[in-house]
Amino acid sequence: MASFKCPACGKGRMETQIVPNFETQFEGITIQINNAEISQCTHCGEQSYGAQELQRWKEIKLAKLAELNQIPSADVVKRVREHRDLSVSDFASLLGVTRQTVHSWERAEGGGMRFGPAAMLVCLLDSESHDKADHVFSYFVRLARERGQLLRVPLPRPDDRKPDNPQVASRLLQFPPSAAPGFCSPPLTPC
Ligand SMILES: [Zn+2]
Repeated sequence: MASFKCPACGKGRMETQIVPNFETQFEGITIQINNAEISQCTHCGEQSYGAQELQRWKEIKLAKLAELNQIPSADVVKRVREHRDLSVSDFASLLGVTRQTVHSWERAEGGGMRFGPAAMLVCLLDSESHDKADHVFSYFVRLARERGQLLRVPLPRPDDRKPDNPQVASRLLQFPPSAAPGFCSPPLTPC
């Protein structure tokens, strides 16, 4: 295989080798790579990887995260949103993203979500621990309310499970009725 001068020490040569089972930390995540193509300096041990090879590693990383259910699929995003009776607009407002972003998350062919804080939040809202998910959801609703965001979402509370709780009746948060029905102000096209 071709070799080139080491960019780190300038003394050795970078020689490419194939490592059958290579384990590495890629963007903070441990992955195993079959037949990793690695260039290593004969003098200082500096390693480098080709752009195509790094792209392959990235795909391996994404496949691992998807397998671990740490990147919600398009179906999961939609399920989380619909489970809370949220419109795309409200879900976007709650999470501080655009409606287009939510649409892209819910479109499998668009690649869905990327790994990151938003994916973790959706995983949390989809948590099997309903109390935890409700708690997080309520917290987001409260934050949205504090910043005066136009939302119409049912607010879950642990107290709701007590049937005689007078607050149950008022659990539907409704924002200034004058602002209804749409959030777009004229003369913009309707949402
Ligand atoms: Zn070197």
